[in-house]
Amino acid sequence: MDRVIQSPGKYVQGADALQRLGDYLKPLADSWLVIADKFVLGFAEDTIRQSLSKAGLAMDIVAFNGECSQGEVDRLCQLTTQNGRSAIVGIGGGKTLDTAKAVAFFQKVPVAVAPTIASTDAPCSALSVLYTDDGEFDRYLMLPTNPALVVVDTAIVARAPARLLAAGIGDALATWFEARAASRSSAATMAGGPATQTALNLARFCYDTLLEEGEKAMLAVQAQVVTPALERIVEANTYLSGVGFESGGVAAAHAVHNGLTAVAETHHFYHGEKVAFGVLVQLALENASNAEMQEVMSLCHAVGLPVTLAQLDITEDIPAKMRAVAELACAPGETIHNMPGGVTVEQVYGALLVADQLGQHFRRRFDRKALG
Ligand SMILES: [Zn+2]
Repeated sequence: MDRVIQSPGKYVQGADALQRLGDYLKPLADSWLVIADKFVLGFAEDTIRQSLSKAGLAMDIVAFNGECSQGEVDRLCQLTTQNGRSAIVGIGGGKTLDTAKAVAFFQKVPVAVAPTIASTDAPCSALSVLYTDDGEFDRYLMLPTNPALVVVDTAIVARAPARLLAAGIGDALATWFEARAASRSSAATMAGGPATQTALNLARFCYDTLLEEGEKAMLAVQAQVVTPALERIVEANTYLSGVGFESGGVAAAHAVHNGLTAVAETHHFYHGEKVAFGVLVQLALENASNAEMQEVMSLCHAVGLPVTLAQLDITEDIPAKMRAVAELACAPGETIHNMPGGVTVEQVYGALLVADQLGQHFRRRFDRKALG
């Protein structure tokens, strides 16, 4: 089978990069539909308008209605056609970017995205997740290309809540372990073939960056300042994790996340927070070395990611709930089937309970040390 890697056409990252957005958009098209979060327009509308005007670009700036649904996509497609715009740029959180990607897909025009948080690896990927107007999952829209341009303004990311950056670290934490597992079984990635060495090494570099810079980056975002560590974590969360998961492969951690979403108590936790616990479950499934488990739990603890079920607010009826999570994680078509040698519901159930125990032990030892 052919090996495949895919990525966004251009990736730009820096403090105040939004002020230069027009210069980066200009080579792609001269007439833009700008879809932005209302919250972002509150502080950045003038910056966006000036930047595009200065570059000589025509634009309509439209507020995103809050849900990435077919209805919202259709509304924005209509606006694009009506006003004769020849490209789309999305500015804001994940749903805004996914909407911009979907609109561009249906209009067959280029898309640029400017994430204002670094909480998931979605900006660089060729995928939109569509929901119903009521916020229920609708379907995945697989796109033929990645965004032509990704622009990340790290000064804006630095002012977002710290917990969002931690969630991004949780999502990025899965990248290396899932790519490693999927490549051991030569599974096809979302890019359409087994992983290249390039993608695997990006995934490994992603993990190494989290270990080296994660804790320091959290301190920066808590102080709302841009530092070299924050820059490196934004790059890891957004680019390395984005290209790493799409072209490196996905395995158990995200399947366990999907299972956990069925437990009501976890609904108020971010994607990356549940994925982080999914990583521990995957390591338990793989019977990973004690040193590796400790390393991952230490990182989670340092940046404020959960290592136990209690930290995900799951404290009652654990056996029954974990059996349901294991069954969902092993549903047909789930990425867990990319694990080498395959897995059974029974094994996943065991790994969920053991990962929780390992996390509890880790926390007790840590608390003792803190006291002693
Ligand atoms: Zn993810």
